[in-house]
Amino acid sequence: MTNESSSELVIRRLYQVTQDHSKGFEHQLLELLKMGLERFDLDIAILSKIDQNKYVVKYCVTPDEVPLNPNDCFDLNATYCSMTCNAKGPVGIEHMGEDDTLAVHPAYQAFGLESYIGIPIRLNGQLYGTLNFSSPTPYPRMFRDVDIDALQLMASWVEVELIRREQEAQLKALNKELHHLANFDSLTNVPNRRGMHQTLHKDLNRLSRSQGHGTIALLDIDRFKQLNDTYGHQAGDDALVAIAEKITQSLRDYDFVARFGGEEFLLWLPDTAQEECSIVCKRVMENIATIGITAEPITVSIGACHFLFNQFKPDDMSKLIDNIISEADTVLYEAKAQGRNRLNSVTKVLSAG
Ligand code: GH3
Ligand code: MG
Ligand code: MG
Repeated sequence: MTNESSSELVIRRLYQVTQDHSKGFEHQLLELLKMGLERFDLDIAILSKIDQNKYVVKYCVTPDEVPLNPNDCFDLNATYCSMTCNAKGPVGIEHMGEDDTLAVHPAYQAFGLESYIGIPIRLNGQLYGTLNFSSPTPYPRMFRDVDIDALQLMASWVEVELIRREQEAQLKALNKELHHLANFDSLTNVPNRRGMHQTLHKDLNRLSRSQGHGTIALLDIDRFKQLNDTYGHQAGDDALVAIAEKITQSLRDYDFVARFGGEEFLLWLPDTAQEECSIVCKRVMENIATIGITAEPITVSIGACHFLFNQFKPDDMSKLIDNIISEADTVLYEAKAQGRNRLNSVTKVLSAG
């Protein structure tokens, strides 16, 4: 076989392996390692990660009698790859034992590997690790340019793919963060209005299908303006954070709280009627009263709307949610007028017509 046709073969196989995205990165990489072993006629293939002086096996293909596994860790200086890193380019050694300087290398002494070909893997100019192929037996021919070319092609693909995977992971994390920013209140870390609407839509759709019931309550801090005026805006913010925490701690795990507005929170208590709602709200109020930011305990007023589906299928869920919240707001207003620090509630039967 001529050099040219064998390098064409390498390129074609490499192309096949790298195009096969459907089986995933790990499969592709192992195929690439196997392909390298065939190409170089060697026995052990490793993609390593180098962390300071630690050499960690990330992926490997070895014969049964060589017990090497992913996450196996070695002292970098005991591996041939320390040379590869220092050489800053492909390194090929055909018969280690014949070279006096290399034969004293700890890797040769420890593992007795006779032949080795390896290349550093760099991500954005930073050393990541090495791609290397080796064997306990001497290499029966000299590594040629076509071998070095093949190794370089493999390394390029690994580099591009590792960068792509890293970027994909970064993008995922960023998307998660954006989702959180879009749906959660940055001060109190409970859902904001947007997050609240998502939850209410989903839950009330479910509830309408089962014709169930629940309670939506609005909680408004009493005389919060006065708290701000007396203790300062920062203390006001601290109080909002503490109140959100106290509410969260007081709720059952299937309940939900959102920051509805400046100093108003919305509580969503699924499958909950008047009596249970009173118990939950009492607990919320008691816990809020323990906050020590002000001389006098902080109090809140709550307006609750219990609603139950009675042969009713809403065609406009947003409108229904607005109506329920508006009923809760009306009784909240009454609670304020009646002297604050209290829970008022109303029951709304949702029926057709
Ligand atoms: P009421 O008992 O009738 O509810 O009286 P209030 O003082 O709580 O009600 P009002 O609507 O008069 O004032 C609400 C105050 O909440 C005014 C505003 O400065 C304050 N507020 C709203 N959002 C924030 C916030 O994010 N941080 C702080 N520190 N204060 C806020
Ligand atoms: Mg208010
Ligand atoms: Mg208020």
